[in-house]
Amino acid sequence: MKRSLFYTFGVILVFTAILLFNTFRFESKQLLIESNPSPEVSTSSIRNFQEAIRFKTISNSDPSLFDSAQFFGFHRFLKTTYPTVHSRLSREVVANYSLLYKWEGKNPGLNPIVLMAHQDVVPIEEATKTMWSVDPFAGEITDNFIWGRGTADDKVNLISIMEAAEKLLIENYQPERTIYFAFGHDEELGGTGAQAIVVLMKSRNIAPEMVLDEGGIITKDKVPGMTKPVALIGTSEKGYLSLQLTAEKNGGHSSMPESETSIDILAKALIRLREHPFDPGFSPSTQGFMDHIGPEMPFFKKIIFANRWLFKGIIIGIYEKTGSGNALVRTTIAPTILKAGVKDNVIPTIAQATVNFRLLPGDSSTGVMERVKKVIDDDRVTVSPFNNFKGEPSSITSENSFAYRKADVIAKKTFPNTVTTPFLMIGGTDSRHFSKISSGIIKFSPITDPIGFHGIDERVSLDSYTSALWFYEQLMRDTK
Ligand SMILES: [Zn+2]
Repeated sequence: MKRSLFYTFGVILVFTAILLFNTFRFESKQLLIESNPSPEVSTSSIRNFQEAIRFKTISNSDPSLFDSAQFFGFHRFLKTTYPTVHSRLSREVVANYSLLYKWEGKNPGLNPIVLMAHQDVVPIEEATKTMWSVDPFAGEITDNFIWGRGTADDKVNLISIMEAAEKLLIENYQPERTIYFAFGHDEELGGTGAQAIVVLMKSRNIAPEMVLDEGGIITKDKVPGMTKPVALIGTSEKGYLSLQLTAEKNGGHSSMPESETSIDILAKALIRLREHPFDPGFSPSTQGFMDHIGPEMPFFKKIIFANRWLFKGIIIGIYEKTGSGNALVRTTIAPTILKAGVKDNVIPTIAQATVNFRLLPGDSSTGVMERVKKVIDDDRVTVSPFNNFKGEPSSITSENSFAYRKADVIAKKTFPNTVTTPFLMIGGTDSRHFSKISSGIIKFSPITDPIGFHGIDERVSLDSYTSALWFYEQLMRDTK
């Protein structure tokens, strides 16, 4: 008895020692860089942003609704508003509506930087039209916010890039590295514009050292346990796949139903899928995230992040509690469309469901499809890809790359008292197409807690716009 007690004590002691050792060794990865105060935003810069929102550059899933005049109008607006950019930079129109600018650097021996943003915005959902507090395409300013569709996604980046470049060009500034601006026109539909830009750049053997696109943001309160703002610098993004499940069984009159109908078969398949979630795991970007925010946490939380070999289950349990947290640790399954039946007294022969998957880096669309078939385990349900819009999980940008380090430094110089960290992007961006020509892809929007992304009352604060301008200006001034 005494002996076993002694052993138990011993084990606890060793365990505690390991936990504490790891915790004390879990050092901060934050760069010690002071931020530079941002200059005040001019009224003309604000007016230009408002004006940009007024162009209804909408990406509709129905191609017949595409309004080319809005895109051409937007191009003309850019030309007249940023005359120096347009006289000094070369500009190409790619895939009819996408734009590629080139700002020649002083040093042609250095690989270029690509700054990305997309011109298109998502439509206003019919059912939500009356729920907006403002006209979504008026570019209104109230309560120190700029309101409207596209303010956060993604015209704030596009206009900030243009404003910063115009300002520096007027000063006769020339960057050390060549800088490209790549503005796709259909990011919300999968990004054929961005893909065409990549093809063009590849044909010219351009290998960007850094590609910066929309992505993670600065958040003041969305990282649990953190009291300081956190800059989420995206280093990878999840993949995208939709599958169609079709259950077929002879229908007939609903007065004499058999024990199972096509709808029952489909419903069972969907339930089986949802009851068998993908295994959780930490992707490299999420590992990086924990390595960066963990050391900044209060001691007891720090112990947990410093000892993931022991507390992985606890951390995953915490993440799983919310939809957004769960999305960070696994490939997700979301049924999105159901179709069956035409009449209340007829049993349909065919029942169909569309299920959307967001793939964790490491998973693949073929792997997901195989697993779905295995889980459903019913020959009466066929599984096929739904439309062509799919994307494998993106490549992962190293924390030690020029691109990450540069984004880290400029974020520190722009945002006071902010913790910076790598991050896994849950949504998709045009930048994933650039993995064909660059290994330094960063997904980061230098704005703080935007509201209404793809939803109602989309808006960004004037402070966010100010910091975005400052971020791009500082980046353009420091490309080496
Ligand atoms: Zn976007």
